[in-house]
Amino acid sequence: MTQRRVVVAIDGPAGAGKSTIARRLAERLGFTYIDTGAMYRAVALWALRQNVDPTDMHRMEQLALAAEIELQPGRIRLNGEDVTEAIRSPEVSSGASKIAVIAGVRRRMVDKQRSIGERASVVMEGRDIGTVVFPDADVKIFLDAQPPERVRRRLLEVRAKGEQVAESTLALEMEERDRRDSTRRDAPLAQAPDAIYLDSTALSIDEVEEAVLKIVRQRVTNGKEFH
Ligand code: C5P
Repeated sequence: MTQRRVVVAIDGPAGAGKSTIARRLAERLGFTYIDTGAMYRAVALWALRQNVDPTDMHRMEQLALAAEIELQPGRIRLNGEDVTEAIRSPEVSSGASKIAVIAGVRRRMVDKQRSIGERASVVMEGRDIGTVVFPDADVKIFLDAQPPERVRRRLLEVRAKGEQVAESTLALEMEERDRRDSTRRDAPLAQAPDAIYLDSTALSIDEVEEAVLKIVRQRVTNGKEFH
């Protein structure tokens, strides 16, 4: 069977389950998993460490251009340093959504994402994959869940790492980030018109994975199995 390059785009708000599902799906399909949020987070981490004001458009674009970001299975490196854990702090979450409003920063990230997707079959997750990065993606999923459920999931994730955070603080942080991501001028979080909307609120991870896999199989192979 001749293999062709396939792009599966998964977009949605924070805590909808995108990373978990995209990672599992990539494993099942033998595709490369790309967490685009991690790329914005890496640039935000660098800015925080360098004391660069996240609203300084010019400096931020320079940082985004200079950042050497390497994505490896389950790990991310910034300028040669493994920053996989460092990019998950609340400061970086909020910083990422602040720098993500800058058009110049987005341009650099989108360039990197496209060049990865041009080389391999990918499951790419983020906010603008189906709308901006790969508007011709073979499969587009908009993964959503009701806000209280998204907060609950994120809380479990944070507590599993042994960190303490009040539910109300986390809820506020997520609400503010989603608002910033949905209302920015450049590439806001939005469902592409041809994306399939999936509400995962009442579904288990396995159920979401099966639902997404079914959609991918229908779209990409006309019901035939991947090999
Ligand atoms: O997905 P994650 O929560 O790690 O993303 C962190 C932030 O990066 C988001 O809140 C958003 O501001 C930004 N982002 C983006 N476009 C993407 C992926 C992430 O603007 N494709």
